[in-house]
This record gives sequence, C-alpha cells and structure tokens, in this order.
Amino acid sequence: MKGRNFLKKLIVISLLLSNSLLLNACNDKATVKAETPNTTLQKVIKWKMVTAWPKNFPGLGTGANNLAEKINQLSGGRLQVKVYGAGELVPALEIFDAVSRGTAQMGHGAAYYWKGKDATLQFFSTVPFGLTAQEMNGWLYNGGGLGLWQQAYEKYNLIPMPAGNMGVQMGGWFNKEINSIDDLNGLKMRIPGLGGEVLKRAGGTPVNLPGGELFTAMQSGTIDATEWVGPYNDLAFGFYKVAKYYYYPGWHEPGTALEAIINKDAFEALPKDLQAIVKNACKIANHEMLAEYTARNNDALKELVEKYHVQVRKFPDDVLAKLRTLSDDVVKELANKDDFSKKVYDSYISYRDKTINWSEYSERAYLNIRSDKAQ
Ligand code: CA
Repeated sequence: MKGRNFLKKLIVISLLLSNSLLLNACNDKATVKAETPNTTLQKVIKWKMVTAWPKNFPGLGTGANNLAEKINQLSGGRLQVKVYGAGELVPALEIFDAVSRGTAQMGHGAAYYWKGKDATLQFFSTVPFGLTAQEMNGWLYNGGGLGLWQQAYEKYNLIPMPAGNMGVQMGGWFNKEINSIDDLNGLKMRIPGLGGEVLKRAGGTPVNLPGGELFTAMQSGTIDATEWVGPYNDLAFGFYKVAKYYYYPGWHEPGTALEAIINKDAFEALPKDLQAIVKNACKIANHEMLAEYTARNNDALKELVEKYHVQVRKFPDDVLAKLRTLSDDVVKELANKDDFSKKVYDSYISYRDKTINWSEYSERAYLNIRSDKAQ
C-alpha cells in the first residue's frame, strides 16, 4: 500500500509540476506577444519636409503642417515629419531637387514649378481652362492621372501624391482695367505654369516668383500685376494695399493640385504599414485643404470688398474667349514634345471632354438653378 501511495503522490506532484511549467511557458509566450509591438513602436523614423510656402502661411504652409501632423498621429509617432518653410532649409523653388537627392525625404509644392525640367509636368498641377478640383481628383485617382504622374517622376527618384487643392483661383491683381486683350500687351505679371505661356502669347511678360516675394515685387513696381491664389491667401499677403482691381475667374488655374513629393529610397525603406499611412495621410490632407479654402474664401472676399474696398471685376467675355484659344494652342503644342507628353495630353484631354459632358447635367445644371436670384 505504502508503495502505491508513494507512486500516487509522485504522479500528482509531476502533474502539478508539468502544469506549472506549462503555465509559465504560456505566461512567457503572452509576455513576448505583448512586448513585440511595443518594441516596434519604439523605433522612430524622422523625416524632413521642405515646402514652397512661407512657414505657417494660411492654407498652404498650414496645409503642409497638417499633412505632417497626420503622418505623425496615424503612425503613433513612429514616423515624425518636421516641416521647413521656404528658405529655411532650401529656397522655395529648389525643393524638387532637394527631395530628389535626399537632402529632405519629403516636399510640398506644385508640379508646374518644375516646368523648366519638363513642360509636361504642368499637366499634374493645372491646365488653363482645364479640370476643376473635383474633376482633377477624379482624373488623378480614378482616371489614370496619378499613374502617369508617378511614371513622370520616376527618373527623378521621386514619388508624387496629390496633397492639396484650393479650388478655382482668382484671375489676379491689376492696377489698370482689362477691357480688351490688348490691355495684356506689355504687362509684366507673376503667373506660373501654362497660364504664363498664354500671357506671353498675348504680348505680356510672365514671371514666376515664389509667393513670399510678391508683395514687395508689386510695391516696388518690379511687376505690374500678380495672381496668387484666391481671397483667403491674397488677403493674407495684403495685395489690396498694392493693387486696385481684383479680376476673376482664374482661367489659368481652375483647380491646381498641390503635390507631396517623396524621395523614392526613403519611401521604399519604410515598413508597409507606414507606406500606407503616408499615402492615406496625403489623401486626407488633399481633401481637408479644399474644404478649408471653400469655407474661408467666402469670408475673405467679403472682407476684401467691404473693409478694403477692393474693386472686383470679371474679365470681359471676349478676353476670356481669346485666352481660351491661346490656351488650347499652348496645351496642344505640349503634346508634340514626345511620346510620353502625347500620352499625358490624350489622357487629360479625353478625361476633360468626358467630364465637360457630365458637368452639364450635374454641377452646371445645379449651380444655374441655385444661383437664380429670384429664389
Ligand atoms: Ca496661382
């Protein structure tokens, strides 16, 4: 009996021991499981974002800040992006090269600033008499535009992403009335991109200056006229102090896409989840900027007119018709540059033709009935 009891005890003890070991093993596993993500979380990647905008400039600079904050938040602090205003790390119009060579991992600007490298890149910001903001997003995300943009930037070691839009811009600030196309003859005006080329065909002299230099250039008479963005941004720069007439519509920039440019090596070195976070943060920033401009332009225009007595004028129809003809020529000529340019032109123009048709039934039909003053 004694021997049997001893054997029983031995079995019970060994069972208890094995259970205890098993439990410990489970606990260890649980501990390891819980600690694994924490260890990953502690790895912080730091990026620099250079921008074409004055630091914290309303809408644009703050739009870049918003994008950086979104990336920081969504990554739980694993990818921290520090924003630099124009001139802090590199001048406004040198951010493309800076990100391309890896001086900064990321940039925020607009593709038409790089027309000196390749005129076709302008299609990825805006085209005179081209797509509105809503339509541009349609072309980029769902109409093949973004794929072409990525191809175009590949040789610069850059990945582009839409990261902001301001909607239809204003036509610009002038100190004389524009009553005929001849009034543009001899005019020295800050107007970037293809709109600048159109002004040249109308006898003017286009100049591309970064936003931060425009007020002084107008004040000193270095330029006769300038466009910038729209009421929200133009009020912030105080152009009403140096120009009398504020013309609309912004035929040259109907919905400029701003870009986030990302150094390809830096992007590819990110874990997949952080790559997805960067892409989606750009999408959020893109939509949020348009919402902000849509809301703030209304109030700013009211202030410009009521408080600062700015004279708001519409370009005469015949001036716009002539600018439209010149624009079509300028844009068509781009298509003849090379095979890739033709591909981009065909994609953009065929999308515009389709959307013009649909807009008649949707946006235009609705806006026309809503603006009926009798209601
Ligand atoms: Ca502009």
